[in-house]
Amino acid sequence: MDGISNFISLRGIKKIYGGNGTEPVYALRGVDLDIEDWDFTAIMGASGGGKSTLMNIVGLLDVPSEWKYFLRGKEVKDLTDDQQAMIRRTTIGFIFQGYNLLKRMTAREQVALPLSYMGISGQEAKEKAYHALKLVGLEGREQALPNQLSWGQQQRVCIARALVADAGLLLADEPTGALDSKTGIEVMELFKKLNAEQGRTILLITHDANVASYADKVYKIRDGAFVE
Ligand code: ADP
Ligand code: MG
Repeated sequence: MDGISNFISLRGIKKIYGGNGTEPVYALRGVDLDIEDWDFTAIMGASGGGKSTLMNIVGLLDVPSEWKYFLRGKEVKDLTDDQQAMIRRTTIGFIFQGYNLLKRMTAREQVALPLSYMGISGQEAKEKAYHALKLVGLEGREQALPNQLSWGQQQRVCIARALVADAGLLLADEPTGALDSKTGIEVMELFKKLNAEQGRTILLITHDANVASYADKVYKIRDGAFVE
């Protein structure tokens, strides 16, 4: 297919909120984006530019108003809801702002949770969770509850949770937003390592040029469109 990438291609993505009496908000005005396997891409822009909207569309959490979205050459529009849900579970790992860890679950249990949705449990789930926690540098903290971990460690638990199902694509929305600068650098170096050594494809969004500088490709977004 002409110009369509092997992994993810978006063409002419528009998202319009509101209407029906209220003033419409043009959150995305026609965005094209290509992601190949092993890419480390950042989308950078000020608040309100459309970053989270785009991320949610790439992650199949939201549906655009106008779109062409190809995933491994297949148009997502043609997939059933169940097929899309399966892709969300197996292909995409989400790392959101604000952590959303469960208070009463140990690090290992949080990380094993996505596996349970895939029917993986018991010893296999335990081993995979330990491995993912080791990858993010939390070996020995598997039994810790969130309130026994620093913010940076909690963010690492989230990253491990996103990694555990061997998702090919990691999506991170402002992954260092709540961290001090030193911890933020550690988390970005972890992403760099996961990309370089593990071959994880990463798409992250940020308002911070220092954070974006860890990526190999940087796109700037403003008022719902890529600029320059
Ligand atoms: P960013 O993540 O870059 O800060 P967003 O994608 O969250 O930007 O928002 C882009 C624009 O869309 C903003 O003007 C925002 O107010 C608007 N917007 C986002 N979500 C909604 C929604 N659910 N309803 C109405 N407007 C929204
Ligand atoms: Mg946002």
